[in-house]
Amino acid sequence: MIRRFIKKVFGRKPPAGPRILTLESHGIRREQVSSCALKTTRALREAGFTAFVVGGAVRDLLLGKEPKDFDVATDATPEEVKRVFRRARLIGRRFQIVHVYCGSDLIEVTTYRAAAPPVEDEEEASRVTAEDGMLLRDNVFGSQEEDAARRDFSVNALYYDPEKEEVWDWHGGFEDARKKVLRMIGDPATRFREDPVRMLRAARFAAKLEFHIDPATRAPIAELAPMLARIPTSRLFDEMMKLLLSGHAERGVKQLRAEGLHHGILPMLDAILDDPARQRFLHEALHDTDARVRAGHGASPAFMLACLLWFDMRAEWRANEDEGLSPQSALYEAMDQSLERQRKVLAFPRRFDGTIKEIWSLQSRFEQRSGARPFRLLDHPRFRAGYDFLLIRTRGGDAPAELADWWTRFQEADDPERKSMLLSSSPGQASKRKRRRRSGQGNGKPGDAVEVKLG
Ligand code: ATP
Ligand code: MG
Repeated sequence: MIRRFIKKVFGRKPPAGPRILTLESHGIRREQVSSCALKTTRALREAGFTAFVVGGAVRDLLLGKEPKDFDVATDATPEEVKRVFRRARLIGRRFQIVHVYCGSDLIEVTTYRAAAPPVEDEEEASRVTAEDGMLLRDNVFGSQEEDAARRDFSVNALYYDPEKEEVWDWHGGFEDARKKVLRMIGDPATRFREDPVRMLRAARFAAKLEFHIDPATRAPIAELAPMLARIPTSRLFDEMMKLLLSGHAERGVKQLRAEGLHHGILPMLDAILDDPARQRFLHEALHDTDARVRAGHGASPAFMLACLLWFDMRAEWRANEDEGLSPQSALYEAMDQSLERQRKVLAFPRRFDGTIKEIWSLQSRFEQRSGARPFRLLDHPRFRAGYDFLLIRTRGGDAPAELADWWTRFQEADDPERKSMLLSSSPGQASKRKRRRRSGQGNGKPGDAVEVKLG
């Protein structure tokens, strides 16, 4: 009777309980879990609570990948969790989680959450859900079953018990992982409406895991994509950076495009993907970043932003010069203008601005290969980033290969060799350039060297 009622209300069969998988079938041994996560689950269990490793870590272990981090889910409240550990900190105000520390290692412990509070009257309903179905509140404790139901994809709703080496699978995630299918839990359109960021997550996971998106999950995305405009721009930025710095950005951006998710959210991506020259540059930038991340070297959001906005900034630089600004002021203004314009759509922190501007302004300094300037440039704290950027431009057909080769050799050479490499400064050329700029013909290309010092 109750089951029938639930089915009527939710339009689907309530899960009959988790499918419990043993080591034999899932193959995840407890030693594969980080020692800090093991300590955390053990201590919670000894204190009388349930505790499982959950989410991305279980999914990645199941797929034979190395997890980025380990999260733990428990039925203990945040206050109770905090009491179990000597080194633990409550994080967040509205929805609290607990950070448990072991040395420099950190485990995020979350209390099981239910999807939404029971809605008793219309007023309450309007407080919890916006008109278009977006969830405004999501902070009620619940059972593991409820916790599983509020997660996004079936492969993200697997719970691993390190003690028994069991995986508790509430939504068929194990089978989906085997078939490499990304499937939304519940009704996809409803779940995307509740939180439109899940659309970006779908593209990110499909790319990262090399999964295909289940057709029913994929179907509503095209229509719901405009809902992303309602997401706070800072959250969009975080989500985009996760995708772009995941080590699978090339595939991720393709996936975004395939789902029609690149419009609007990242106007720069939008413009880039419609212009072959920009596309080639972006391809090189993403390829390079992916290789770097996969080799275990970090990739920085500032560098990525410098790549994404490069053409945009340069067009602005050119326009400013055409309006009669000196090359230096034209560059300064262009950098500010393009960063501010983009920030309206994608709130990226101002702390990246300095690095982005340095990477950009170094580009014209690479042109200067005479006298003491190349030596000064080598000592610049952002030399490496600027040089890496130059390499990407070269591969993307945006700078001469000869220039990048020269800098590669210059770095490797000893002092006498470096001196012999210097180009003789050609005053004739410099004054020709000045004349051209004055007569308004300057094209503002990085070839027109501008030395800019940024604090
Ligand atoms: P990654 O390896 O990229 O960190 P992840 O699966 O761990 O992947 P997180 O963003 O760290 O992703 O989130 C942890 C878990 O929380 C997810 O596996 C999922 O179960 C749940 N989750 C996160 N964001 C959402 C969301 N927007 N809607 C529903 N569930 C979510
Ligand atoms: Mg994670």
